[in-house]
Amino acid sequence: MKTRVVIVGGGTAGWLTAGIIASQHSLKKTPTQETEVILVESPDVKNLGVGEGTWPTMRDTLRKIGISERTFLACCDASFKQASKFVGWSCGQSEHYYHPFTAPSGYGGVSMAEHWSASPNEFDFESWACAQGTICEKNLAPKIPQMPEYAFSLNYGYHLNAGKFVKILNQHCVENLGVKYIQGHVEHVLSAKNGDITAIALTNGEQIEGDLFIDCSGFAAILIGKHYQIPFKSKRDVLFNDTALALQVGYASEDAPIASCTIATAQESGWIWDIALQNRRGIGHVFSSDFTSVERAEEALLNYVKNDPLLASQPLTPRTIKFNPGHRETFWHKNCVAIGVSAGFVEPLEATALVLIEKSAEWISQQLPRERGAMSVLAKRFNTLTLQRWHEIVDFLKLHYILSNRKDSEYWREHQQVNSIPESLQEALTLWRTQAPGIYETNQRSELFSSASKQYVLYGMGFNMEQKQLGGHGNNEAALIKRLRNETLHTTEKLLSGLPTNRQFLSKVLEKNKIGKL
Ligand SMILES: Cc1cc2nc3c(=O)[nH]c(=O)nc-3n(C[C@H](O)[C@H](O)[C@H](O)COP(=O)(O)OP(=O)(O)OC[C@H]3O[C@@H](n4cnc5c(N)ncnc54)[C@H](O)[C@@H]3O)c2cc1C
Repeated sequence: MKTRVVIVGGGTAGWLTAGIIASQHSLKKTPTQETEVILVESPDVKNLGVGEGTWPTMRDTLRKIGISERTFLACCDASFKQASKFVGWSCGQSEHYYHPFTAPSGYGGVSMAEHWSASPNEFDFESWACAQGTICEKNLAPKIPQMPEYAFSLNYGYHLNAGKFVKILNQHCVENLGVKYIQGHVEHVLSAKNGDITAIALTNGEQIEGDLFIDCSGFAAILIGKHYQIPFKSKRDVLFNDTALALQVGYASEDAPIASCTIATAQESGWIWDIALQNRRGIGHVFSSDFTSVERAEEALLNYVKNDPLLASQPLTPRTIKFNPGHRETFWHKNCVAIGVSAGFVEPLEATALVLIEKSAEWISQQLPRERGAMSVLAKRFNTLTLQRWHEIVDFLKLHYILSNRKDSEYWREHQQVNSIPESLQEALTLWRTQAPGIYETNQRSELFSSASKQYVLYGMGFNMEQKQLGGHGNNEAALIKRLRNETLHTTEKLLSGLPTNRQFLSKVLEKNKIGKL
């Protein structure tokens, strides 16, 4: 039986979904099971094209889809992302902290976080328990050029040019994975009696039939929103930011360092992101229009750029993007499932959009329904899982704000008001006062944020556990902690002396392979 999957939208969500499903299904044609993937994209509606930071999951996604890392690095002006660096979020002892992609040493076996909390020392938690922040400070790559593609010394994701990423995904999906690409604007939907979508109709009169329709149409949400009217749950009462100003700025010189992390610098009414690619930096200000004006936010953004001597001085006009933070009440309705911005969007503080796209598409691909009855069961499960993930994202982002000591503006003071903190997060904080987030934190296998991530943010922000609760540790455990700490020191030293800078790595690998750019 042939299954037709019709994806509406050719942004990152559409092409990643097409690649993930097609690489698993469309080339494995058997007489009983055949999957055709069709992607329809409007020539009249532009992609969002901003998302530039990924999680380490992207390595696995690219490998599975069948794109070589060198091609990806060359075609997308990409660089490595090893962490997020939070500057000025009021971090207690230090003015910045790292949330790295590598877990603290001993993770899963012993709680370094509790030991660190029980005996505060001159080191911040991250550099005490992990080498990655120190490596990021020196703009070093997470690996040496001789290592196989996607392998690493330190876990990493990427910074990428979103427009170019869509281009290579499109080319690869069509040429190598058999995805059928149709340019056309979806005008309306044709439905069956049971409410399922039978076909989408384009403005040129063409109708495209399908079994499963995936809405990747971005803010337009033409299937899940316009057609099915699935309600949108705004989270603006928790996460206040609703506007972004985005810029692309060249380097002052060709050999300017390429940072290993996304830098998020707190501002009066929001924060500024800074993402380093090979040839430029993507910089933008996310803020709340309830607390500041576009003019004031733009001034802060332009000052940030002006004060950085590593950036070229050039005339700059930011692009404004308005958004309502939140997500759909349900994501899979009848035979239509939403992925990407059509499903929801919140500020990119932890770059959660692309990872959620990857995970949603992977889930659907793994469980691709072969008949209509199965689809209803899967839809129910997908909705439960995805809603849980959105709650997790909202809680984790809010955590960054409520731990802040900043009281310098209404924005920060309001963020710390109890009535803006979800109950689930308040509960978690009660727990974390007496015990560090651990691997038994949730019962889910599919959580997005590990307890390691929660530890990095909590202790990076100077969260104190109640000392009286932190009992003594036996001699054996004390010896283990000492050994782990020495290992971290040793690893840090070794990596500091052995890793190339990002620029050295990228020049070497891209020169050696002489890969043409798109
Ligand atoms: C300021 C900002 C910064 C971000 N930073 C990050 C980040 O660092 N990391 C991260 O993971 N994410 C980030 N994101 C999110 C990321 O950009 C998006 O999740 C990602 O681009 C996916 O978008 P999309 O494909 O869902 O939608 P879009 O890119 O908007 O694509 C929508 C597609 O639907 C098509 N379409 C629309 N209407 C129709 C129609 N009627 N018929 C046919 N086709 C139609 C359009 O032509 C387009 O191809 C950021 C977002 C913003 C706004």
